Amino acid sequence: MLARGREGFQIILEADLHMHTVACGHGYSTVKELADAAAEAGLKMIAVTEHGPAIPGAPHMYFYENLKRLPSYWKGVEVLKGVEANIINIYGCLDLPGELLAGMDIVLAGFHTRTGMDGLSVEEYTSGMISALKNPLVHVITHPGNPGFPVDIEKVALAARDNQKVLEINNSSFSTARPGSISRCRQFVRQVKKINGLVVINSDAHVFTEVGQCRHAVRAAVEAGLDNRHVLNTAADRVREYLYLHKKRLKQNTVLPA
Ligand SMILES: [Zn+2]
Ligand SMILES: [Zn+2]
Repeated sequence: MLARGREGFQIILEADLHMHTVACGHGYSTVKELADAAAEAGLKMIAVTEHGPAIPGAPHMYFYENLKRLPSYWKGVEVLKGVEANIINIYGCLDLPGELLAGMDIVLAGFHTRTGMDGLSVEEYTSGMISALKNPLVHVITHPGNPGFPVDIEKVALAARDNQKVLEINNSSFSTARPGSISRCRQFVRQVKKINGLVVINSDAHVFTEVGQCRHAVRAAVEAGLDNRHVLNTAADRVREYLYLHKKRLKQNTVLPA
């Protein structure tokens, strides 16, 4: 997946770190179908990141506890086992226990409808998101530009950078999900560029045909002047290093956050 900027610059992604399966109740593909599609798309790494249990229709706790059954590689594609947890209050708490999250390869976190967070204020959403960014178990904040859960873009971008965390530019926000996201996503990208932060560009695939399809988000990044240095998943090695450093930091913490 690549896009050319004004000066001919390209962003090429080696990893897609956000996708859903049939297990969440509103996804349409199996892990195998997603991994096959990733191999066909030439990706080196994917993350299977099912929705956390607060989403209506999400899997039973056994699903998350059993993720280790998934293969680590499929057809040459590294398969990270993770979750897209829900931020379920203004203090940044997530909907899975810390012990379980600590054992996953990657933890995404974001706001979703019908999880008890509808109808709050910008201050409350900003507080919830910044608290999640400070949580050492969280690696990525998903779709922060969602207008359904509006946050203070400057404050969130700064908190992400200062906590060495990554904000997602979600391709589905430009096409099939979360209507009205595009202008806020562009504001986020510009802010990240301004403060020299870091993003990850993901498909948020809910069906195999969407795996690695990130052209809208890549284009927005390129147009804002981001380059490979600002985009974590331009190299699978860089994703590995990022996750390793955060795991190491987590081990130095004796008490796991809730
Ligand atoms: Zn979903
Ligand atoms: Zn999501």
